[in-house]
Parts: sequence; structure tokens; C-alpha cells
Amino acid sequence: MLNRIDLRGKPIARLGSRQLAQELPRAELDVEVALTTVRPICDDVRERGAEAVSEHTARFDGVDLATTVVPRAALADALARLDPAVAAALRESARRARLVHEAQLPGDSVTVVADGSVVTERYIPVARAGVYVPGGLVAYPSSVVMNVIPAQVAGVGQIAVASPPQREHGGLPHPAILAACELLGVTEVHAAGGAQAIAMLAYGTADCEPVDTITGPGNVYVAAAKRLLRGIVSTDAEAGPTEIAIVADGAADAAFVAADLIAQAEHDPLAACLLITPDVGLADRVQDELTRQVATTRHAGRVTEALAGQSACVLVDDTDAALLVADAWAPEHLEIQADGAAELARRVRNAGAIFVGHYAPVSLGDYLAGSNHVLPTGGTARHSGGLSTLSFLRGIHLVECTRAALAGVAQHIDALGGAEDLAAHVAAVRVRVPLAGPARADQGGVDGEGAGLAGADGTSAGVAGAGVAGADGTSAGVAGAGVAGAGVAGAGDTAGSALPLRSDLAGRTPYGAPQIAGVVALNTNENPYPPSPGLVRDIAQAATAQAASLNRYPDRDAVGLRADLAGYLGHGLSGAQVWAANGSNEVIQQLFQAFGGSGRSALGFEPSYSMHPLIAQTTGTRWVNGARESDFAIDADRALAAIGETGPDLIFLTSPNNPTGTAVPLELIEQVCAAAPGMVVVDEAYAEFARDPRCTALSLLPSFGRLVVVRTMSKAFALAGARVGYLAAGAAVVDALQIVRLPYHLSALTQAAARAALGRADELLATVSAIRAERDDLVGWLRARGHAAAESDANFVMFGTFDDRRAVWQGLLDRGVLIREVGPAGWLRVTIGTPGDMDAFRTALEAVLS
Ligand code: PMP
Repeated sequence: MLNRIDLRGKPIARLGSRQLAQELPRAELDVEVALTTVRPICDDVRERGAEAVSEHTARFDGVDLATTVVPRAALADALARLDPAVAAALRESARRARLVHEAQLPGDSVTVVADGSVVTERYIPVARAGVYVPGGLVAYPSSVVMNVIPAQVAGVGQIAVASPPQREHGGLPHPAILAACELLGVTEVHAAGGAQAIAMLAYGTADCEPVDTITGPGNVYVAAAKRLLRGIVSTDAEAGPTEIAIVADGAADAAFVAADLIAQAEHDPLAACLLITPDVGLADRVQDELTRQVATTRHAGRVTEALAGQSACVLVDDTDAALLVADAWAPEHLEIQADGAAELARRVRNAGAIFVGHYAPVSLGDYLAGSNHVLPTGGTARHSGGLSTLSFLRGIHLVECTRAALAGVAQHIDALGGAEDLAAHVAAVRVRVPLAGPARADQGGVDGEGAGLAGADGTSAGVAGAGVAGADGTSAGVAGAGVAGAGVAGAGDTAGSALPLRSDLAGRTPYGAPQIAGVVALNTNENPYPPSPGLVRDIAQAATAQAASLNRYPDRDAVGLRADLAGYLGHGLSGAQVWAANGSNEVIQQLFQAFGGSGRSALGFEPSYSMHPLIAQTTGTRWVNGARESDFAIDADRALAAIGETGPDLIFLTSPNNPTGTAVPLELIEQVCAAAPGMVVVDEAYAEFARDPRCTALSLLPSFGRLVVVRTMSKAFALAGARVGYLAAGAAVVDALQIVRLPYHLSALTQAAARAALGRADELLATVSAIRAERDDLVGWLRARGHAAAESDANFVMFGTFDDRRAVWQGLLDRGVLIREVGPAGWLRVTIGTPGDMDAFRTALEAVLS
């Protein structure tokens, strides 16, 4: 059935790959011819829009449609009718594809080119993508998965799917395609096919906004339309007939090889299938197998046509020669069924995807490997790769430069601008750094606070995986902005850039929420009530007692403090189940050191406390953001799906959450614990302020050995200055943390102050009810004035929304009230202060908004 091409004894290494490729069969896709048909259709759609699409649809698809828009109900209906086994398979296919495509997401790269001169590369998704899914006799819902998932993972805002209308389905696209769209959450689907669909996506019509990128397979007319409109939009590679090359030796199972050749041939009579082998015995066995298997295969007609047509068995001297042939042909799919398959695969240069060994057939990649099945055909694998998350992203350079750094390179710009006779280029630099002019000290660098990418508009929601946002969920840090001036030295100079700093830290700035004297400080969720004179005296006495023995290291294990904290928490806890450190930030860092790190991942639900992703980053832990709903709640199904997809080593739930103030229901925490493959950390920094005091994960500790509840003395205990945070967990967790903690991390003075404060817990906690009442008053006050205020179980309230929240924040500061610009766009966060503080806040806010 397969023709034989005998390259044995030929000097193929010397032939050169282009010449070698000419020896090998492959059907050509004549896109040029189709261009003449397609051009008038595209021009017509550009000029007449929806009307033209409708006419071409009537002509080619035989249906009359008033609109291309497929009603939402049709999508839901299609999914409801989809065979549950197919739905389950598509879900698993999507889950795996999402994992692989998430791993492709590039982080920002920040390069300090010279002192004060930084280039950051940010990857930004296109705003709108069009996905074409062919219809006709065979509809491939798997193609919906393969195109939509990378676009979704890239963060594309809008995805429009187009697929030809089917007469037999009432003018809608094939129901399997509609069901796949619904399953993936795609809501915009158009019943349009062929060149008119591509033109509709590229130019836009009354029914369909124009897109920025078009991907997806199609026939020769679709390929021609994409070639024509490339430039108006970007497109994926042109998809010609599918192809496979199998490099196999005597170790291969002839039945497997034959089955894979047939599976490829099943797609298209023009499919090309090569078996490349040095083993004549295998070649014979595969021929026999083909004869046997083709006789019973479902699509025997087109399979036979493809195998007898542009397909072959290529005989070569050895596996080295087989690899040369495969590289020359540059197949869409390459299988290696030979001894040492993994090693051979590493040597391949040209292929769309490589399937390694006897148990990784192309059919796995078509559906469920997680890899993408949209791959380069026709030898284009020499220069192109398959569809990926990157297909929907663009790298944008951000260029930052201080005056001094510009002055440092100005002479080179003089030279190059002079050589290219572009005097105005030189002038644009010299107007800033005149030849003789000394650099002005006040122009040394970019302002460290809030000056960066994400910081610029005050939001911390900026760059995924790159943001160094401030500790209270603030934007004070600079997201990957490479501000050399505030780098390692933390000063206005560029000392850091000369140091061999880790590249993922280069250009980042330290955390820094504003600390401004003389204002009403409602920005860091501190407790506004200072320690009582009695407590001040107790702390002083305890410190004095310790001072006498400061020549000695403190109790390394803080045994007394931990026992006191366990007593305070109750729930039957003992000191062995409690651990303390310098603030809960340090506790969280130790958790990451012990349970996260390189090759591991952590999942959180943002907007939330921004130190969680930040510490993830500094400890090399991959951070994954599971989303919240519009009311800032965490949806159980979505959370469990995110856990299933990520398999996180650490999960963070902040309850009550910062900056939203919302609490996480205990039932959800329980569900997360039951599903979590690793540690679950419930950050309860604000637990004492919750309206329902029983709503604490402490009660779940006996049931879940990998649950950790983190608390702090910084908030309810009014002891932020002492820096004491702690956790409660199983004793084994505490043992694990002792491996990563630095010896003597908690000073004797800290331990003494904390114990003194715990001795007056009742007195300190008395401020909590006053703060709660003040908070609830404020929420009522804000809402009465038409503002939104998030439900708060904490000592702060997130309120909004303002078109220009920066202006509101600044207006308040101008009136002596400092709050926090943090949270989703348009929202602000105010910490609850004393009644006097809150009066000042209310007065200032009214003045700002009047
Ligand atoms: N967790 C959350 C949710 C927080 O908001 C904060 C500080 N604002 C902390 C932990 C860290 O607090 P500390 O290090 O002071 O204990």
C-alpha cells in the first residue's frame, strides 16, 4: 500500500535539507489560486458588512440568516444535549490544555542595561480574538478547545468563535461546536463560514466587532482569506493537509505504527504519511498490518487514497539518517518509536510536535495530551511553531532612563544620529542633557513610590507574576518596573544595579506604604488605640528584666510565648501547635520556605493580601491567581476547579480578606481543605473583628493535618510595633517550620513585650468592639450617601467606586487624611480609626466629593 523510497547508501547528509525534502512526497496547498476567488468576497464584506456576509452565506451554505449571532440559549441547549461522556472528555481535555498553556505564560523580564537605564518586556494579550472552527460533515469540538484555551490563558478579553451554519441544524453551526463553546465559557459565536467569516472577523460588521487576531483551521479558502487579511489582523500559520512522519526501528510494534499512519490518513485523502526506518523487516510487517487494518477501518476510502498517494515508506541506513530525513521534511507530527526515543527526540530540529516512544500516539496529542494540536504543516515547521499562549500576546518594551543614564549614552546617540544624518534625533537628546550642562541632582531617578507600571495608577492589579505590591494590598511597590533608583540600595541612587542581584529581583523596589507624619493615618490597618499606661508599664518592666541578660541569646523556641498564645486561642491548643515569628509576614515567609519554593506552586484568590504573591515570588514559588466573583466572594466550584487544575502546594485563603474585608465561609474552607493536595493557609490577621466570632478555621484544625491558621498581634492586639505574628497548626507543621526559621529569630525583647500584652488581652481586645461599631457606622454612612461599601468583617472598609480614585485619595491627603489606594479599579480602602479620626475622614470625603 505504501510506496517505498529507498535512500539507503545515498549520501543524504551531504544532500542538503531542501534537496532531500524534494525526494519526499507531500500534497501542496495552492492558496494562490484560491486568492482570486476569495479577494472579491473579502472586499465585499469590507464594503457592505453584514449584508454581504448574509448574501455569501446564502450562496455557499444555503441558509438565510438575519444575523450571524448565535443566541445564547442555543449554546446552553447544545451543551445540555451533548453526550455526557463527550462533555466529560472535553472538560478533561480543557483542563490539561490549560495546565500546559499556563506554563507557557511568559513573565515580565526586567533588564538593567546600565545604571539608571532599564528595559522591561511586558507581555500583553490582544483585546479581541477570532477563532474559526470548520463545520461540515466532521465537526471538531477539540479544535474549539485548542484555540480557545490558549486565548483564555493569555488573558484575551473577548473571544468570538465563527463556524459555518448548517442547514440540517436550522442554520446554526454544528451543535458539538456550540456545546464546546458553552463548556469553555465562550458566549460570542457567529454562524459564518469560509472567506466571508474571516473577512467579518477582520473588518467587523454590524453583528461582529473586528478582532485583532484570527486563529483556527479551515479549508483552502479560509487559508487564502487569512493570507489576504494578514496585516489587518494577525493570524496563525496556514494549515494545509495534515501529516505524520514516524521514525521507527526494529523495536517498534508494527501494529502501532500502522494504526498511527491510518489515523492520520483518516483526516484527509491529501494527508501525507511517512514511515522512516532502517529496518526492512519492520517495513514489511507494517505493510502487512496496513493491509489487515485498512480492511476494517471506518474511513477506508480516504485512508487508502492518502496512503497510496502522497505517503511513503522511506528506507534509510540508520536512525541518524532517519532523523536527517525527518528534519528535512519538517513534519507537522513526528512520532519516534525506536530504542532511545527520548534521546533521539532531543536531536530533532524541525517538527510541529514530537511524540516520544511507543505510548504517545498523535491521537493522544489530538485530544488529551494537553499539548496544542494546531501545528505547522507543509514544511513550515522549519520556521514556525504550533499555536500557543504566545500567539495571543505581544511583547511590549518599557524603556526607563534617568537623566544621568541618558547623559551617559548621549555621546553614542550623537555618533549614530550623525552617521544617519538625523540631526533632530541628536537634538532630542541634547535638549535634555546638553553637552556642557551638569546633571541636576533632583533629576536623578524615577520616584520609587508608586512610580512603576502598576503603581502609576495606584492599582496593584497590574502585571501578573511581576507585581511587587505593598504589604497591605497596596500599590506602593513597583510592579516589575525596574526602577533602578530605588532598587537594592533603596535610595535615590543606582547602587543596586551594579550588584549580581538575582535577575528576577533586578529593578524591583522594596515595600513602602507611605509613612507620613502629622496626618490621620488610616492606611495600614493599624489599631488606632495606643497601649494603656498600665500596659506600657508592664512592657517596660518586662523589657528591663530581659535587658539584664541581653548578652545571652533568647529562647530559640519561644516556648513561654507560644504557650501563652495557645492559651489565648483556646480550641484545646497547646504551645506545641503554635509557632511565632516577627509579624505574620515572617510566618508566611517561613511557610513558603518550608512548603513552597522552586518547582512548586501556590494558589490564592485575588484581590487579596498582596504579600502572599510577593513572598511566593521571592521564594521562587509559582503563584496562581484563582479569581473572585463580582461581590468578592470565592465561588466553591471555581475554587475547586482551580485546585484541580493547579495542584497547588500551598493554598491561601484570607479571612476576613484584605483589602475587601469579606470573610470566607467555614464550609468553603472545609471544602478547600478536603480537596487540597498540599497545605491550606487561612490568613486570619483580622479574625477578631469578624461579626461572627465563631467563624474561624481554628475549629477545623483537628480534622485537617495540613491546615494552618495564621494570626497576628498587629491588629486587634494593637501591637503592630512589636512585630509578633503566629500560627496554629498540627505539631508536625511547627516541627517543619523550625527547619527553616533562623536561630533566635524572635528577640528576647519582642517575646517579653508580647507576653506582657497577652497578660492584658482583655484590656486590649476591648478596643475591638469599639472599632467594629465604628466600622458598621461607616458602612451605613457611606451607603446612605450612595457609595458602594463592601461587607466588612475587618477593621477597614473598602468603598467606591470612583472614576478617578487617585484624585479622591489625593484630595483626602490634601485635607490631612491618609487612606489606601488599593483593590479593584475604582475602590479605596480606609482603616477604622478613633471616632475623631472617622469624623475627620467623613468631613474630608464630603469636601473632596462636593
Ligand atoms: N495578613 C494580612 C491579611 C494582612 O493584611 C497583614 C498586614 N496588613 C498581614 C498578614 C501581616 O501583618 P503582620 O506582619 O504585621 O503580622
